[in-house]
Amino acid sequence: LRANMSVIQRETGFVNGLIVVLHDVTEQEKLDRERREFVSNVSHELRTPLTTMRSYLEALSDGAIKDDELGPRFLGVTRNETERMIRLVNDLLDLSKMDSRNFTINPDWINFTSFLNQIIDRFEMSKERHVHFKRLLPKEAVFVEIDEDKLTQVIDNIISNALKYSPEGGTITFRVKLLDDHIEVSISDQGIGIPKDNLTKVFERFYRVDRARTRQLGGTGLGLAIAKEIIGVHGGDIWAKSQEGKGTTIIFTLPYDPVQEDDWL
Ligand code: ADP
Repeated sequence: LRANMSVIQRETGFVNGLIVVLHDVTEQEKLDRERREFVSNVSHELRTPLTTMRSYLEALSDGAIKDDELGPRFLGVTRNETERMIRLVNDLLDLSKMDSRNFTINPDWINFTSFLNQIIDRFEMSKERHVHFKRLLPKEAVFVEIDEDKLTQVIDNIISNALKYSPEGGTITFRVKLLDDHIEVSISDQGIGIPKDNLTKVFERFYRVDRARTRQLGGTGLGLAIAKEIIGVHGGDIWAKSQEGKGTTIIFTLPYDPVQEDDWL
């Protein structure tokens, strides 16, 4: 709290008033600090792939390009780093859109069960690792009003994380529960888990539990922050539960009106 004080004094020298203005600077300072941290994070995140690329490009121009084995390998590295920067910039653009005051979504009435099934099918078709998918979903149609593209982005991100951290042969379980006025969607893996102290932090921008390792896995550190924004504008909530070494569950909710659905049938 900052106080500005002005003394109201007459020409005669008598003081006949005091104006005290109190500013709440803590909130402003917090925002300023967050903004500075954000810019510093973005700079670091971009510098890492750029410096890697510079050294590989130097090695290539110093002769590695003529080497049948090293040439393609080094080019592959620079390409991966480029891909990472594109992902990062795309994520940043998404977040900056969401930060703007006029961010809106385009919701439609969607049958959530078939929507989720389609996403799981896509991962099941394309997955490179040996991981099982278990679906514990309601048999009936569950209509919710959501922006399909945005929700796809959320679920894609959660599944990609679950796959990244899953052990070979592990199971990823999908559950959808119908509650009074919302549905609860959970995606559980049997991976390394998240330490208790970090369970809320993983939804912050750029927060990673293990910086070096997750960077190696190709993440931007923004996926769950974006998910939180998207679920938030839908009127839902998102959080994580985990037991270290046993697995992680990401849970989110979406508003749901069972009565309205009956009217439809
Ligand atoms: P990233 O792009 O690094 O995956 P996210 O925002 O998606 O960024 O996740 C933030 C961090 O949360 C990750 O770096 C990782 O440390 C942790 N995390 C997310 N999902 C899982 C999971 N299923 N198992 C273990 N750790 C996870």
